[in-house]
Amino acid sequence: MPKRHSTLSAPVRGVSNKYYSNNVEMSEENYKIEKAHCNQCLHETRHFVVALRDHSGSAPANEHDPYCEYEVSWRTVYKMLECCGCENVSLEKKFYFSEYDEIEEEYYPPKVSRQTPKWLDQLPEEWYELLKEIYVALHANSRRLAIMGTRTLLDLYMNEQVGDVGGFAKKLQVLEDSGQISKPNKSTLEAALEVGHAASHRGHKAKTSEVNQVIDIAENLLQGYLLTSGAESLRASAPPRA
Ligand SMILES: [Zn+2]
Repeated sequence: MPKRHSTLSAPVRGVSNKYYSNNVEMSEENYKIEKAHCNQCLHETRHFVVALRDHSGSAPANEHDPYCEYEVSWRTVYKMLECCGCENVSLEKKFYFSEYDEIEEEYYPPKVSRQTPKWLDQLPEEWYELLKEIYVALHANSRRLAIMGTRTLLDLYMNEQVGDVGGFAKKLQVLEDSGQISKPNKSTLEAALEVGHAASHRGHKAKTSEVNQVIDIAENLLQGYLLTSGAESLRASAPPRA
């Protein structure tokens, strides 16, 4: 299978409350600070409010009624936020409407709850692309799509390891019989696949924690695949014993 070339990752700067971005001093004196979720730090951190746009309006509840005393109002606030620690930038949009109980919140890029694994770009091209798509679905809270994608990823992995020998159960059995996975590993994989079948055939919407568990299982398997391939080249490069 073709391997991807490694890509350069962006340097991570140290934590500071004062630095220069495009010659503008980023500091608490110059910018308002708010707490918000950071997609790099993966938790709530202090952010500079780099820019803010506030659009609002109102209209009679029923414009055809001249005696109508009530009006509806709305307000959309956009904020460009920059993490004070890692300098990650995001856009927050909050929409308020007088007739809604809750404020609608959107983020661009969407809030990230888990980062892609560091070894992602070492995976074969097809697996790499699919895992990236799984994360896009996860970040958009499309949990069923993330689970279905993970089921397909596990299927691709099994096809690579044992060939297309039949259904999921058959492939798992061959994996175990050939010693590529242990009995406990097989049972863990079966559990992950069961959630995948439920999402694909019955529209089951797993909880976020369950989706993360299924992705953990798949990633554990893929990392094992990379470690095995890496061990072979490591052995080949080691000088023989004298
Ligand atoms: Zn951050």
